[in-house]
Formats: sequence, structure tokens, C-alpha cells
Amino acid sequence: MQLQFLGTGAGMPSKERNTSALALKLLEERGTVWLFDCGEATQHQILHTTIRPRKVEKIFITHLHGDHIFGLPGFLSSRSFLGGEDILTIYGPKGLKEWVTSSFNVSKTHLTYPIEYVEVQEGVVFEDEQFIVNAQLLEHVIPCYGYRVEQKPLQGELLIEKAKELGVPKGPLLGKLKNGEDITLEDGRTVYSRDVTAPPKKGFTITVLGDTKYCDSAIKLSENANIVVHEATFDHKTEHLAASYGHSTNVEAARVAKEANAGFLILNHISSRFLPHDLEDLLLEAKEIFPNSFIAHDFSHFEWKNSELLEDK
Ligand SMILES: [Zn+2]
Ligand SMILES: [Zn+2]
Repeated sequence: MQLQFLGTGAGMPSKERNTSALALKLLEERGTVWLFDCGEATQHQILHTTIRPRKVEKIFITHLHGDHIFGLPGFLSSRSFLGGEDILTIYGPKGLKEWVTSSFNVSKTHLTYPIEYVEVQEGVVFEDEQFIVNAQLLEHVIPCYGYRVEQKPLQGELLIEKAKELGVPKGPLLGKLKNGEDITLEDGRTVYSRDVTAPPKKGFTITVLGDTKYCDSAIKLSENANIVVHEATFDHKTEHLAASYGHSTNVEAARVAKEANAGFLILNHISSRFLPHDLEDLLLEAKEIFPNSFIAHDFSHFEWKNSELLEDK
């Protein structure tokens, strides 16, 4: 799994930071990419990456503020121009479908692929054999959801040598054993899957929070997550503004990660009031509370490998 930040600014773009968008790259896991929010010009940002729009399978929208959705119609129609045919599912609060479809109606935009809209409510919004995604309302000035993506345990590898020793021939029986099925050999002996496979591996959990002030639901949604992506619109000097605007400080984000017993924290949604040389301070303040903290820049790329979060520099 890899993460690429496409926009890390708050409210409006600056020269350094575009508005919100994050790509969860599940290329190894399922050959697709999931986007979280789609601020204006997300498609332009994608042009500077290796992400292919037709690989985008799902878009999770946290809330309907412009800095999180104004890039949707453009991205969706370019995905069509670029030959996208696979269905795309958009998850978001009530009102999102109406906004997207009316912008397509007015502009006479026709897509080459179907869109499925899922109106998000608290609880499970998506589940298949690989992943389960939960949503929870946060505390912002309009309804805003955070998403918790959990990868289900991964099947243990097939121990081929052991299977051979037990007399399993090459071919489809090996596949059955790998998939957890017990099999019977021609001579009548049973070979149990658990005897020829390694124990299942734990999957990863990542929580992507939208705009929010410091709140219990952010902590609950982040509980024991490997990675928490949390907004940090303000810092301790501007703390008095944070809650009244429905936002958090870097310090509050770090407290959420700490109280939730998370593994790693990535700060995003940084106000344009902070200049590039302020960012190191923002990060250091967070690290005092939660040492495993990172601050995201546009195009920051992270890799989840062997239970570690590595930032590609
Ligand atoms: Zn925002
Ligand atoms: Zn907002």
C-alpha cells in the first residue's frame, strides 16, 4: 500500500499547496486507487504523478466544502476522455450526487462509465473480501465524515515444500489448500490447509479524517490504526480560532493519535497562513506529543512496508 498526497492546503490553494486530495494506492492489493476528497485541480495534480485516472475505483468525500469537492466534475469527465470504462463509486454526504449530476446536466457531460453514488451514514459503507470501510461523523461546521479503512487478514502463504512432502501433486489442489480448503488425495488421505500454509498476516488500518475540531469520534475512528491522517489547520498560537472554525491544531491532531494508540500520524490540511519555513515547527510541536508524526506536502509519497511507514524523499 502506498499513499500520495495530491493536495494538502486548507480552504483555498496557495502556490505551495493545492486543496485537499489524497490517493490510497492499492495497486498490489487490488490493482486500483482510492481517492479521499477531490479539491479543485486534483486532476492537474494527478498529471504530475504515475496515477492513472481509470485506475481510480472509489472516491470517498469527507464533506461538501468546496476545497474538498470542486475537483470532482473535472476529474470525472477526464477519466471518461482517458478511456475509463469501469464503474466508479463515490461515497459522500447527502447532496453530493445532486451537485455532481447537475453540473453534468448543465454542461451536457456524458461519461463512458457508470457512477454509483453511496450516501454515507455512520457505520460500514463498504465491505468485500479484502477491505472494510467505516465512516463516522466528526465535528465540523457542516456534516463531515472520517473514514477508517481496514484490510482484512491476509491468507498465509502456501508452504509448497510441506505440501510436496505430504504428497500433494502440482496443480489445482495446491490452489485449494492455499485458499483454506482441506483436500483428499487419490490414496484417500486428507491434507489439511492449516498444515501447509503459514498463519494469516494482519492487514493494515488507515484512518483518514476530514475537517474536524478535536473530538471523541476522531479518537474512536483512529483507535489502534496503523496510520492516521489528520488535519492541522492551526497551531498552538492560533488555537483560539481552531474550535470555532471547526478545525484542529497540530497539537490536537497529535493528541488524537496518542489517545487512539495509533502507529503513525500524518498532518495535512495546512492553512496558507503557514509559510514553508513554518512547517518544520508545526511538525516538531506535534512530535513532542506523538513522536511518529509526519507532515504532508503536495506529492508527498509514503509506503507501508513491514509495519513501518516510510516517506519517499
Ligand atoms: Zn477544508
Ligand atoms: Zn471544511
